[in-house]
Amino acid sequence: MTADATPLGRDLVRIIEAEGPLRLDRYMGLCLGHPRHGYYTTRDPLGAAGDFTTAPEISQMFGEIIAIWCMQCFALLGRPSALDLIELGPGRGTLLADLTRAARAMPDFLAAITLRLVETSPALRAAQRKTVTSLGVPATWHESLEEIRPAPTLLIANEFFDALPVRQFQKMAEGWAERVVGLKNRKLALGLVPAARVELPVWASAAAEGEVVEIRPAADHWGAAIGVRLVNHPGAALIIDYGHLSSAPGDTLQALHRHRPAAILDRPGESDLTAHVDFGSLGDALRVNGAKVCCPLTQREFLLGLGLELRGSILARNATMAQAQDLERAVQRLAGPGEMGHLFKMLAAISPGLSCPLPFGATKT
Ligand code: SAH
Repeated sequence: MTADATPLGRDLVRIIEAEGPLRLDRYMGLCLGHPRHGYYTTRDPLGAAGDFTTAPEISQMFGEIIAIWCMQCFALLGRPSALDLIELGPGRGTLLADLTRAARAMPDFLAAITLRLVETSPALRAAQRKTVTSLGVPATWHESLEEIRPAPTLLIANEFFDALPVRQFQKMAEGWAERVVGLKNRKLALGLVPAARVELPVWASAAAEGEVVEIRPAADHWGAAIGVRLVNHPGAALIIDYGHLSSAPGDTLQALHRHRPAAILDRPGESDLTAHVDFGSLGDALRVNGAKVCCPLTQREFLLGLGLELRGSILARNATMAQAQDLERAVQRLAGPGEMGHLFKMLAAISPGLSCPLPFGATKT
């Protein structure tokens, strides 16, 4: 496919002709968030008709289990009379809807919460408004965390961090080179430029020649901002994404189009771009301002630890045979070791005075 196959592709060619090759994080940021042609700006990518499906879209049980976790945190926080329930990148608002419905079991929690949706995409904000307005809970929308006045907080981010832009560096015989997007015969092409004065993390020194190291400056920024909030006011954050627990070299950037892997330079603005979350670095960013981080769990450990199977069997009691099979299948998809159960990780960060909410065990030092 030629670079000018999409409106964003044509813009990118012009930008590269004028400014030279783009760093990967700029390319990824424009592909996902360009104000007119960005992937998230222009569409709702979720579900069978879109490009990928997320856990809340698989089953209401996901949001219900997160509700149990949030209600537990509410009790640990001393049942504050007002609490911000912040979600970063809430997609269609499905998780918040399922969570809020389940929270009817704890009326003082429900009465305390204000939903704060951090979302840049106008298309998804519209979808969220539709879902959230009927819930009977106050809700506001924001572009960034810094915009939300400090208050006791529960924060959730599901498949948010994997969409934040990455930079990639390749270890060469003569030093580090940065991967960039340039042009070859007016087509987008990956290239390498010598990396000037770049500060790579300590673990990068383990890379062998030819290996790629991925860093995500935006995740460090968001992680530090969450940490500051938790240090200034009591609260907890739950970050859920696919990725690895310890930092290591490897190129994980991929494109997805209609549930299939695609080339990262094809269809700019019309394919999803995503890369594994490095939970090691994210934990460091959360801790940098003094927040505590609990030992991360797999999604399987978290969901089974808080009763996913029990919830499935309770729902199955009043279900038809077909519905019961769907519930069983949903439990498998969410928690099965070969499905999302092991690939997805859950990381919790808490205010310094708190202890780790179950099923998290101890803090990570
Ligand atoms: N959490 C949802 C959606 C995941 S898709 C779910 O699990 O179904 C990623 C979400 O993050 C989308 O809502 C997207 O618009 C949003 N997003 C991506 N980058 C963002 C940014 N920099 N700021 C705010 N929202 C962002």
